[in-house]
Amino acid sequence: MTVDAALCTGHGRCYALAPEVFAADDFGHCEVVVDRGEVPLELQDSARVGFESCPEHAIAITD
Ligand code: SF4
Repeated sequence: MTVDAALCTGHGRCYALAPEVFAADDFGHCEVVVDRGEVPLELQDSARVGFESCPEHAIAITD
C-alpha cells in the first residue's frame, strides 16, 4: 500500500477512518504506518476503508 504524496491534500479521511494503517505526517498528509507498506491480513479491511475514503485517489493498493 502506498500514498502518492503529490496527490494527497491532507483531508485526513484515511487516518481518521483507519488509524491502524494510516497516520498524519507533520503537515497533515498521509503516511502508511504498516511495516514496509505491507498490510497484514488482519488490517486489510481497515486498509480498504482508508483506500476507498480518499477523495484524491492518492492511495494505491500494491501486492
Ligand atoms: S484521505 Fe487521501 S488526501 Fe486525505 S490524507 Fe488520506 S491519502 Fe491524503
